[in-house]
Parts: sequence; structure tokens; C-alpha cells
Amino acid sequence: MRIVEVREKTLPLSSPGQNAVIDFSEMTVSVVALITDQVRGGRPVVGFGFNSNGRYGQGGLLRERFIPRLLRADPQVLLDEAGRLDPGRIWGVLMRNEKPGGHGDRAVAVGILDMAALDALAKLEEMPLNRLLAERHGAGAPADRVWVYAAGGYYYPGKDLDKLRAEMRGYVDLGYTTVKMKIGGAPLAEDRQRIEAVLGALPPSTALAVDANGRFDLERALAYGEMLSDYNIYWYEEPCDPLDFETHAVLARRYSGRIATGENLLSTVDARNLIRYAGLRPDRDVLQMDPALSYGLVEYLRTLDMLRASGWSPRQCVPHGGHQLSLGIASGLGLAGSESYPGVFEPFGGFADEYPVQDGYVRLPSSPGIGLEEKAVLYPILRDLIA
Ligand code: MG
Repeated sequence: MRIVEVREKTLPLSSPGQNAVIDFSEMTVSVVALITDQVRGGRPVVGFGFNSNGRYGQGGLLRERFIPRLLRADPQVLLDEAGRLDPGRIWGVLMRNEKPGGHGDRAVAVGILDMAALDALAKLEEMPLNRLLAERHGAGAPADRVWVYAAGGYYYPGKDLDKLRAEMRGYVDLGYTTVKMKIGGAPLAEDRQRIEAVLGALPPSTALAVDANGRFDLERALAYGEMLSDYNIYWYEEPCDPLDFETHAVLARRYSGRIATGENLLSTVDARNLIRYAGLRPDRDVLQMDPALSYGLVEYLRTLDMLRASGWSPRQCVPHGGHQLSLGIASGLGLAGSESYPGVFEPFGGFADEYPVQDGYVRLPSSPGIGLEEKAVLYPILRDLIA
């Protein structure tokens, strides 16, 4: 059993729209194919990986450093005692000669390869990812459906309140019961109008979360917290810079609603500092670390161990990203749910075609691997990579 080749391609992630901080029209994504010498159904077993949205493609780091390092390693070092691919050992090889700290693009590059290795492993074991994870690291059996919420409500030029209302209402029509919109890209009074417009358009059984994308300083985070307290908001996401723990702590003392954050923390150590110093409350706050941006599942398992040891349940975790890796991890490891981006960040975002969202939940495919081949718009890209 060996990895014979790893290919990478950097593609545009054409998704228009802006949050409070960035414009997504220039975003790229790295797609990786990890090709093994094993054959199933007459074809080589290939694992696929890609980075989640919000960070750029990692072609440079992958091609210059991480892929050569993986292919140079003695193939035996990458396997467990039973001769199967071992994500932990692969991770160890990838991180050779890497100093601690500096968890930026490197965490994304390693996350992409970790995802491809997991996909290959699950295919070799002929199991869907969620079952593999539940058996190895979870409660034994995966959840057969996962709570997902629709993230949208971006700022676009010319997008008025009618268009915003129609968009958010559209997510409810698609089967979501919780929707999320951006805040912080407009003055507070205007954001208040946007929130009121959306709340007025949502049926009573649904909920609205808001996301500031780390935009606010303390004063503005508090001002928004006060404004949001006038409404029944599901959560207040990324109020301030993800590493500004003191601002989180002050806000958490003053704002009694749920705070969500973590999508831009790229390592277990950063997550531990958040838990130690940001004053977040394990009975209500939500942690959104995205395995596909932060060194992959291997590191995410360490993060979950750290959370348990700190008195936090995996039920407080709802990973960012809206992709099938986070969905499979949520199902396999008993997390509260997963983000979803209906209609944006295609073709990489989104879940298997055959499983629409129903009553706020989505089911997972039973095919071996992460299930990436179950998306008709994604499949041609994967196929071209190994052609
Ligand atoms: Mg967010």
C-alpha cells in the first residue's frame, strides 16, 4: 500500500459578494488528488481534498513543500500496524521540520492533504467517512442526519431590503430552519433595518443568526451587542478579531446572548487560548473551528480532546465551511451541526445532490469516502484532475 502520486490544481472559487471584511470574487481553491496503488472496482483508489472557503488556494506551499515531503517519506511510515493509511502518521510526516506557531496558510495546506488522505482511507475501508469516524473516534454509530443552517445575507452592490428578504426567505423554502446574515458592512442603523426586514420576513418557527466577520473593535462590538439584544438573535458571530480574547471576554460579560466564533483559529493551541482567555460560556457559546482550514481532522481531534478537558461538549461545535468534510465530522463525532452556503462557493461547497435539507437537517450519503463524487457539479473537476 503506497501513495504513488499527489496532484494539485488551483482554481477560481468564483463567488460574488462581500462580508464586512473581504470580497470573495478573487478567492481561489486548491484541489488535490492523492492517488494510491490500490485498486477497487478496476480503478485506482484516489482521495480528494480541497480547502474550505475564506482562505486562498495553497498551490505554492503544497507543490514546493508538503507534497514532496509526503512522497519522499518511506511508504511504511505512513501506515498503521494493519498496513492502512494512518492520518496521524501522515500528519507527522507533513509537519516534519515545521516550527511551532505561525498557524496561517500552512494549516490550510496540511488540512487539504489530511482531507485527501481521509477520503482515500474511507474508500479503502469501503465506508462513508461519518461511519469510519464514529467507529474510530466517536460513539460507534454516526448521526444519520445533521443540523445545518444557511449562511448568506452578504452585501452586494444594489442589494436592497427586498432582495435581502427574498434571499433569506428562500433558504427557508429550501428546508432550512435557521439562517444567517452578514452585519458590520454597513452602519449600525442600516444593519438594524436589515435585521428587522429579515426577521419580519421569516416564519415564526425559524431563527436568525448574524455574522460580523471579526470586523469590530470593542466599542462597536458592544454597541452591536446592545442593538442585537433588542431581538431574538440565534447567535452573534465573530464580533471581533478572532485572536482578541480580551474583547471577547468583555463582550461575553455584557452580552447575554449566544456568541459564536473560531472559524479563523487555525490550530488547537489557538483554540485553547480562546477557551482559556476569551470568557466564552460552555453552556451557550458556539465554536466554529473548520477542520479543512486548520490542519485537518488530526488536529481537530486534538481540539475536541482539549475542549472536553476544559469542560466543553462537542455539542457546542458547529464547524464553518459548508462542505462535506465538516458535515461528515459533525455526523461521525456528534457535533451540534455544520454550516451550509446554499448556492455560493460552488462547486466545492454544498452536500450530496440526493439529500435535500429537510426541517433544518441533512442526511449523508452511504458511498465510501467523504462523498465528494455525489455532487454532479464537482465530479468533473475531480475526474479531470486524475485524467
Ligand atoms: Mg463566519
